[in-house]
Amino acid sequence: MAICYMSCEEKPVQNTPENPINIILMIGDGMGLAQISTAFSFGEETPNFEQFKDIGFIKTPSTSHTITDSAAGATAFSTGQKTYKRAIGMSKDSLPIPTIIETLHKKGYQSGLVSLTPITHATPAAFYAHVKDRDLHEDIALDLVKSNIDFFAAGGLKYLKHRTDQKDLYTALIAKNYKLDSIELSKYDINKKNGYLLAHEGLPSKLEGRKAFFQEATQLGLNYLTEKEKPFFLMLEGSYIDWGGHAMDAELLKQEVLDFDKTLGVVLKYIKKHPNTLLVVTADHETGGVSIGKSYLIDEETGEKSEEIDKVSINFNNDQHSGTLIPVFAKGKGAAHFRGIYENNEIYHKILKAIHQK
Ligand code: MG
Ligand code: ZN
Repeated sequence: MAICYMSCEEKPVQNTPENPINIILMIGDGMGLAQISTAFSFGEETPNFEQFKDIGFIKTPSTSHTITDSAAGATAFSTGQKTYKRAIGMSKDSLPIPTIIETLHKKGYQSGLVSLTPITHATPAAFYAHVKDRDLHEDIALDLVKSNIDFFAAGGLKYLKHRTDQKDLYTALIAKNYKLDSIELSKYDINKKNGYLLAHEGLPSKLEGRKAFFQEATQLGLNYLTEKEKPFFLMLEGSYIDWGGHAMDAELLKQEVLDFDKTLGVVLKYIKKHPNTLLVVTADHETGGVSIGKSYLIDEETGEKSEEIDKVSINFNNDQHSGTLIPVFAKGKGAAHFRGIYENNEIYHKILKAIHQK
């Protein structure tokens, strides 16, 4: 993949207190404390997570269920309101509510979304779409065309180009001054909005051979949004940590967490150079009831646990979401607001507070 890492990094960075801050929200779908712990237990390097000092916890219940899903979870972050399970950008009474991107666009902000899933999947969709149910991918894609998101990189070509209603939303986006690429993370066009739809559905998982897409798409987005010299809101989703939990697949979980941590490294490097930025890292919920537990040798004949060995392993309680408190890590301007224990929708209000404080 041909990527320019240099052009905007060469520019002098002017961060004055008068400039509105940039916001980067990283969501590890299904990433609870045990998931994060796998980077400490199994990673070869010190995890980037260790660089945080401002840490808190969120309570994640939705209005309809104690154990939430990604739609209600992301909608709480994107709108500041808790809602029912499966809702995308809708209130608990099924009314559309403005997302943080819509609100910030009015203040002159740019926006960006990076996900491994289709761009129409629950987590990214909650930042620009308003539909009653997360499965309405084609409706969500219609909202994408209206959204004016400045930069996006994900999968989901199918919902724009190969729709049941035969509408060609790919062409519709191009008509709205987008440069689109469905092959690779090519250089962006600074005079246009830029969209990358690199898979029919979702991108491959790490175990299926995904290379450095998450880091490269993040860097590309940061370069583009920085070169435009306007404040931005950028959401980055590590989507498949959740899959590791649902599949109860320790290796998948581990590789996706390590990939998330690597991307976190890219972002932390960015905010060191651009201190007028707030980074918030959290999750919608935990998946799998994961623990870092004891390891046992398994008796080959009986299949039962035999001797305990002094090594940890990733254990799953089940293949579902869980209701544990979820860690929040913050760095940069306004990071101290994110300490403490609070509801998930407070993330939205704390971000706006950080933007408004001078
Ligand atoms: Mg997700
Ligand atoms: Zn899930």
